[in-house]
Amino acid sequence: MNLDNCPRCGKLFAKNFRDVCPSCLREIDKEYERCADYLRENRGSIITEVSDATGVSIKQITKFIREGRISMMNAPNLSYPCESCGSLIRENHICDNCRARLQRDKQHMLEDLARKDDLRGSDSRAGAYKSLDKYKDK
Ligand SMILES: [Zn+2]
Ligand SMILES: [Zn+2]
Repeated sequence: MNLDNCPRCGKLFAKNFRDVCPSCLREIDKEYERCADYLRENRGSIITEVSDATGVSIKQITKFIREGRISMMNAPNLSYPCESCGSLIRENHICDNCRARLQRDKQHMLEDLARKDDLRGSDSRAGAYKSLDKYKDK
């Protein structure tokens, strides 16, 4: 059996396919019920309103949405914060801006790696990178 501290209340529990202890699991179920009830009556709510009205943290509501327990189809104004910058989004884990930024960072990293490779790499590989550079200028 895999014993671990519950990330929510800190109690030791047997980790069986669940991230939190049984009592927290029940609490979270209740929180879900409150959010679902509220959204049934207030379909146009935004996430901060749901959080204020139910006392459930935005983080937890975000989790419900990601797990598919709360459907965004029935809540047209519901969105959740981007994991990176906190802007409200309705799909993916991060917003378009952050995705573009991460993409750029990745590109730079690959270019750095290529450059390092170029410095110590064999002639044939260095040649390949040079021909790539040629295309870039166009
Ligand atoms: Zn717990
Ligand atoms: Zn973002």
